[in-house]
Amino acid sequence: MSCGQTRAELVGFHFGEVAADVRARVEAHLSSCPACLAEFWALKRSLETQADEPLPSVESFRALRGAVAEELGVAASPWRWWQRPVVLGFATACVALAVVTVQALERRQVVAPLGLRR
Ligand SMILES: [Zn+2]
Repeated sequence: MSCGQTRAELVGFHFGEVAADVRARVEAHLSSCPACLAEFWALKRSLETQADEPLPSVESFRALRGAVAEELGVAASPWRWWQRPVVLGFATACVALAVVTVQALERRQVVAPLGLRR
């Protein structure tokens, strides 16, 4: 394998995306060619230390999280953060209404039907 052929495969080699025979030829060339080995280390360093690159957007993270959750069969939370207080408030109001209704019904005088009066 020539230097040009080897360098053309370095990115795929780095990410493990080359066929086994290509991998073996690249490894054999790198072990015998200091110039290509230096090129490979420089490429590897630049790929692994890209701290200056901008981070993916929040939307990208959310889309990725959703895709992973879907792939794993784990349902992402259907509630948005702002919906939870609304639901909690509604549930609290329902409980309060039920308590008030029960108390109001308990205060009413119970009058027996006419046929049952003594
Ligand atoms: Zn070479």
